[in-house]
Amino acid sequence: RERVGILALQGDVREHARTLEACGVDVVLVRRPSELVGVDALVLPGGESTTIDKLTRIFGMRQPLQERIQDGLAVYGSCAGMILLANEIADPATDSNGNPQQTLGGLDITVRRNAFGRQIDSFETQLLFTALAPKGTQEQALHAVFIRAPWVERVGESVEVLASVEPPAGGQNVRIEGEARAVAVRSQHLLATSFHPEVTGERRIHELFIRMIRGEA
Ligand code: GLN
Repeated sequence: RERVGILALQGDVREHARTLEACGVDVVLVRRPSELVGVDALVLPGGESTTIDKLTRIFGMRQPLQERIQDGLAVYGSCAGMILLANEIADPATDSNGNPQQTLGGLDITVRRNAFGRQIDSFETQLLFTALAPKGTQEQALHAVFIRAPWVERVGESVEVLASVEPPAGGQNVRIEGEARAVAVRSQHLLATSFHPEVTGERRIHELFIRMIRGEA
């Protein structure tokens, strides 16, 4: 069985653990460098990306995480986890000293945080998702929950868009209304979604991730 770590510094760790266990892999909560060593793959949970960013430094995890990601560790980031995997944030938060939040990077995308606007900071929608079926590339419907979610504003050449969504009307970012935005992307061993499959009993994203770990997707 694969040993799948979950970065457990902050965020919805328990929901990811439950989903991964339901998928039949061994779950390891990762808080320190020694716990990262034995994992075959890693999940970066949803939560607050600025907090997780700070805690990775405090726990001495930033460099070990970046090294494993560069070495080809399979990583799945949901929501805040997507932000942490992104090479670039369009609108990074700054701390009280004026330092912008940082990401771990690895995935050649630019994300915008809280992109769907404050008036609709949470919403649910049906997505069409490419590549959920084990071998096919046909699109499948997926019920997705977005909570102060980022979207992907730019994807690099190596990045495949697996799902997009049209921002619901009523958002504050009126200039982009009606334009579909990427909310699920993959580049080789890295997978990221703006939404939270772990909170809806949805297993197919984690199953896709496990197939990626096994080299079957
Ligand atoms: N808005 C959060 C952030 O920027 C992400 C929210 C989430 O993970 N549900 O980190």
